[in-house]
Amino acid sequence: MNLQQLVRKNVWDMKPYSSARDEFKGEASVFLDANENPLNDKYNRYPDPLQWKLKEKIAHIKEIEPEKIFLGNGSDEPIDLVIRIFCEPRIDNIVAIDPTYGMYQVCADVNDVEYRKVLLNEDFDIDAQKIPERADDKTKLIFLCSPNNPTGNLLNRKETEKILNTFAGIVVIDEAYIDFAPETTWISELDKYPNLVVLQTFSKAWGLAAVRLGMAFASPEIIRLFNKVKYPYNVNILTQNFVNGELDKLELRKQWIATLIKGRDYLKNALAKLPFTEKIYPTDANFLLVKVGDANGIYKKLADRGVIVRNRNSVSLCAGCLRITVGTDEENKTLIGTLNSLDL
Ligand code: PMP
Repeated sequence: MNLQQLVRKNVWDMKPYSSARDEFKGEASVFLDANENPLNDKYNRYPDPLQWKLKEKIAHIKEIEPEKIFLGNGSDEPIDLVIRIFCEPRIDNIVAIDPTYGMYQVCADVNDVEYRKVLLNEDFDIDAQKIPERADDKTKLIFLCSPNNPTGNLLNRKETEKILNTFAGIVVIDEAYIDFAPETTWISELDKYPNLVVLQTFSKAWGLAAVRLGMAFASPEIIRLFNKVKYPYNVNILTQNFVNGELDKLELRKQWIATLIKGRDYLKNALAKLPFTEKIYPTDANFLLVKVGDANGIYKKLADRGVIVRNRNSVSLCAGCLRITVGTDEENKTLIGTLNSLDL
């Protein structure tokens, strides 16, 4: 892989914004270099643009060097940035699995980059042959999502490896739901695949969706490109400090994951007993995709009773399906009780 050939020329050539904190990083007694207000201690200073303290802690947990980490405003930020770094609007294209997380296409559309979908097979898995068939010399990115949203399953690892080995562009693997899955992360393969970008988030297993912190893991060369194009202070100090504290609660987070997996099993069993359940797809995430036939009708009846699930009826390969997030024990029971009470 030749990184320079893959990156948009304007991005490769540009000089990134240099903030006051980039230009002076040491200790000093008087800071008069950033036009900050000196009167509101704690919140008056710009935060570390590269969030090193937080990255060092994440690096320790993920067993990776901090230089291979990018932090953003949710993982939606690196999804947008990776397109802006690599794809020339109206010239380059992206290949992605279908169905999958909707933001890849939204970001491609915003950036005016062609988005090519490759339908998954009936097991919602990939066929490594079909993906490169849709790619051409203008394909810069392949988006994979494992476990995938809305289908819930991990993608076949061997097929994914084939893509990583044969595709000359960047392969993005979105692992937003990896903590609920039995398989290990692709982060450990970064040294083997210089064209790999792995996305993770604090929004799911860490229970911090409101705090907005997402991660991209890649080679230091690719991470430097992310840093070049991002807003200078893309992660605010409240988020940096708060997540720093949350990272000390690893044990609690493991308990949450175990609780949610138990809840997932409960839902799986209870949903299987309902007369209108046609299929419960295998899941490695904190949600279940369930084929119920009349998804629109059941969705509406549930919503009328104050129980909201996601209607995926109009998504490719998901006709008749609802996507149900695992809730608390009480929420799961309410859902099942409500479904049982529907006169269908
Ligand atoms: N990737 C996938 C597969 C998701 O399902 C989501 C959120 N639903 C995200 C990324 C975005 O997560 P974040 O909150 O980190 O922006």
